[in-house]
Amino acid sequence: MNPKLLFWVPAALRMALILGGVAVLGFLFGAIPALIVGFLAMLVLVFIQLGYLYQLSDWLDNPDSSRLPDGWGAWTNIFSRLYRLRREDEKNSAELTEWLARFRQAMHLLPDGVVIMDDVLFLEWCNPAAEQHLGLSNERDKGMRVTNLVRSPDFMDYIILGRYEQPLTISLRERKLIVHIIPFENRRQILVTHDATETERTEMMRRDFIANASHELRTPLTVIVGFLEIAAMEGLDEETRMSHLKLMGEQGHRMQHLIEDMLTLSRLESVDYPMRPERIDTVKLLSQVQRDARALSAGKHEITMDVDGPDMMGSFEELYSAFGNLASNAVRYTPAGGTIKLNWTAEREGARFTVEDTGIGINPEHISRLTERFYRVDKSRSRETQGTGLGLAIVKHVLLRHGCTLQIKSEAGKGSCFNVLVPKAALASKQAELLLN
Ligand code: ADP
Repeated sequence: MNPKLLFWVPAALRMALILGGVAVLGFLFGAIPALIVGFLAMLVLVFIQLGYLYQLSDWLDNPDSSRLPDGWGAWTNIFSRLYRLRREDEKNSAELTEWLARFRQAMHLLPDGVVIMDDVLFLEWCNPAAEQHLGLSNERDKGMRVTNLVRSPDFMDYIILGRYEQPLTISLRERKLIVHIIPFENRRQILVTHDATETERTEMMRRDFIANASHELRTPLTVIVGFLEIAAMEGLDEETRMSHLKLMGEQGHRMQHLIEDMLTLSRLESVDYPMRPERIDTVKLLSQVQRDARALSAGKHEITMDVDGPDMMGSFEELYSAFGNLASNAVRYTPAGGTIKLNWTAEREGARFTVEDTGIGINPEHISRLTERFYRVDKSRSRETQGTGLGLAIVKHVLLRHGCTLQIKSEAGKGSCFNVLVPKAALASKQAELLLN
């Protein structure tokens, strides 16, 4: 029905009722009393309306839907419409508050920094990651110019040039940050920061590894190619030819070792290469390690072994390669006549494997870097003895996978002692075996 009619018809009826009543009263009691009654009835009506107006104005001071009065006549409709409007409003604002809380929580958890600035780069808001990346404080720095807070010449240039299509990489507070300004709305800008320190480090390691590996492969390859060119020349006597072939064979083997070690390393580093632990007979494992060391030494060293410890849990193949590497290093870096001791002993916290030699030893400044790939103290000695520079890096990875740690003690000219500390968890016990089966 037409809302106009809905309002006016009942109001007109009410008036007509009063006027009708006044007319009847006039007919029965005369005009004067009827007019007085009519006047009083109108007065009551006016006061009722004023009462509702007052209630409405009072409600507007604190417009809570639960406080709305019921009303009478046209007021019923007005109040019920106001009630509906208010309820909707309250629902929307509750939803908005909830969304805002969720948004704030998401921004708190975001690993990337987000800074909201106005058009002239005054800080309006930033999340905790941005506080950390840029050294800002949401409370302290609000309303300050971001360029006064982030002191980096590259960042300043980026702002001055205003080429915001591309992100910028800056070094700030010992981190590598990728920062990007994105204008939004008409008069606001967002500054996004991403911490790329770790990515940059991995990228550098990858570049170094490729450079080192190529260099290591290029040297033997150059030798082989050189000899092949000489071999192509005529008039080479048999003896020279044979010695060249021997040298080429050695260089070929060197390349083979290098590639095998690189493949082992990459397999150990790969997340898709799970370890299948098994019970390892340590006497058998260490006997093999000693046998290999003796073969490498070819009688030039005294190699002793003392096994007095429990069996291990882990990968036989991997531990054989790690312990074997330590033993072969001892042989390779100990001049003829030296002694090498292999020891496996039980300890309170687990067990310990040690390889002790009386070899050339290592200066203290090198010790912390020995497990880096291709790190060698003496390059020529490593090469002479078929070293790839990857042995201790492999050892480190294998030990890491078994929860073991490597300790190196050494003194130049006196000898070295490589200790592998094996925790109880990596030792064979009834429970460990039951868990496996
Ligand atoms: P490499 O194949 O060159 O031996 P490793 O990673 O096994 O590579 O060892 C890294 C370096 O650590 C070696 O080049 C050598 O300088 C040093 N090193 C390792 N073991 C010993 C040892 N027992 N005595 C002296 N130096 C050692």
